[in-house]
Order: sequence, then structure tokens, then C-alpha cells
Amino acid sequence: MKHINVALFVPDEGCPHRCSFCNQKTISGKTRKLTLSDIDKAVEIASEKGDGKGEIAFFGGSFTAIEKEYMLSLLQRAKMYIDKGLFEGIRISTRPDCIDKEILTVLKKYGVSSIELGCQSMNDEVLLLNGRGHTAEDVRRAAKLIKEYGFEFGVQMMTGLYGDSDELAVKTAESLIALSPDTARIYPTVVLEGTRLSELYEKGEYTPQTVEEAAELCARLLSMFEEKNIKVIRLGLHSGGNVEEGFVAGAYHPAFREICESKIYLSKILALIDKEQIPEGDITVEVNSKCVSALVGQKRCNIQKLRNMGYNCKVQQNDSYKKYDVSVRLTK
Ligand code: SF4
Repeated sequence: MKHINVALFVPDEGCPHRCSFCNQKTISGKTRKLTLSDIDKAVEIASEKGDGKGEIAFFGGSFTAIEKEYMLSLLQRAKMYIDKGLFEGIRISTRPDCIDKEILTVLKKYGVSSIELGCQSMNDEVLLLNGRGHTAEDVRRAAKLIKEYGFEFGVQMMTGLYGDSDELAVKTAESLIALSPDTARIYPTVVLEGTRLSELYEKGEYTPQTVEEAAELCARLLSMFEEKNIKVIRLGLHSGGNVEEGFVAGAYHPAFREICESKIYLSKILALIDKEQIPEGDITVEVNSKCVSALVGQKRCNIQKLRNMGYNCKVQQNDSYKKYDVSVRLTK
């Protein structure tokens, strides 16, 4: 038995307008309204294998701005399964300008435990250019309230938005870290068909990040959040839904997180080589067994890069090491 979460999508529900990058139907692969029997079916399947400690999560759309009667019916049905002890809590995601004391009181009453805010950027110009319809101040205000009410708090940010830059993304991460969230999700922008960004891209007015550019930046952001003990629970757009069919351009890769983690390992190895003045030759790198694949990199790219620099690298597993712990020594 393990933690099994149920992810339910309410695509576009509650959204006052369409943000530049968003095509919820492509992301979620869902084209119709979520029904109560959809919840029943999903819960039934998950609860058979789960340990009762998972969450029922409502993603997509702006949950707290959904038409009230419909929103309450979804919450009521989810709460029924929490009360039966089949799940531990409810997770929702919403817009920062759709949080106030009244809605937080309702969410508490229905057993919601975690709230994620789609922040995307903490730069007002970037928010405006991408049609978000809220400001960075709305994020700060909502974050404060969510924490005051005792919910687990998550933030979602994007990189490579229209008008954004690496420098602004780093500032966004710094501003979000200052809000002390429990979790973060980082999404490099993927241009999907049917979006405002795809029009700008076709007209040559917008250039999305490549996978390589986004991975360089996101590796840095991942380290920033994790150094502050903020768990990054998602890095890169999920490969489910119809993302591959609706893909136009941008930083999409099904193993995006591993690419970013590989970059972190390579920079750690290089820093150790530099610090300990390790001469070229045969080296042994130790890492936790769960991290070998990220250290080696896609198509063994890190091993190849080290070889090109004159280091023949042997990887040894050491399960006393934590994630991102790595050591380098000359092979005897
Ligand atoms: S608020 Fe969220 S779900 Fe709604 S259009 Fe914008 S990005 Fe998409």
C-alpha cells in the first residue's frame, strides 16, 4: 500500500479569461466538465491501492473562482471520501486574485489541506504581457492569508514567458522563496496551439526558450528552492494529456527534471575537481544509488563531457549519501 493521489481536472473552470500560454484542454486532455461520478470512479480505482494518506487534487482552471454551487458540489463529494478515511486531504490550485477570507473559510470547512497559487511571475510587466490579470502584490496578499489560515502552501512559476528573462525568473524565484511556501512547481513555457503565444510565435514576435536554455535556468531555480528546503514537486510540463499533439514550440521534454538534475550534478563534480585540484585521469564519483541516472545524464552526456575534459569517470553507489551529495576522487 502506498500514497496514491487522485488528480482531477476542471479545465478552464472559473478562469476570467485566457492567459497567453494556456490551453487547459491540451494540457489535461479533458474536454468536458468534471462530474461527480468522475470523482467516484477515480477515487474508487485509487483507493483500492492506496494507504489512505493520499490527496484528492483538483487541477486546471481557477478552483476558487468556479461557480459556487458547482465548486461546493465537487468539494462535498471529495470530502465524503476524506471522512471515510480513504484520503487524507484535498489539494486545489487557483489564481492569486481569487483568494479571500470568505473562500478560505469555505475551503477549511470542506477539508481542503493544500492550496497552490499559479503565480507564474513576480514581475508585473511580465504578468501584464501574458494576460494574467493579477499583480505580484496579489500573490503576496494571497500567500499571507493562506498561511494565516494554516493551509499547506504551494507556488507555481514559469520561465521563458513573453517579456520574461533569466534574470527576471531568478528574481521571481527569490520573491516566491521569500513567501516561505511548502512546495513549488516550475514550468518552462511550452507554446501550445490555440494560444496567444502561438500567434506571437508565428508572427516572429516571441521566441520561446529551447530545452537546453530552460534546463540551464531551471537547474539554478531548482537549487534555489531546494536549498531553502522548499520541495519542488514538479519541474516541466507533465507528459500526459495532449501536450505532444498540441505542441508548437518551446521547452518540452518528458524527462525535463532529470536533465536539470544532471546539470546540478555536473556542476557539483566540476566544482569539486576545481576545489581539490584533481588532475586529469581516472576518477571515481560516488552518489546515492537513486541518483545514478541523473548524475550520468541523458545518453551519458555528463560522462562524455567529463571525458572530453580528460576525466574518465567511474560511478560508484553509496546509499549513505543524500540527494545531490557527491564526492570525487582519483581512482587508485
Ligand atoms: S488562470 Fe490558470 S487555468 Fe485559467 S487561463 Fe490562466 S493559466 Fe489557464
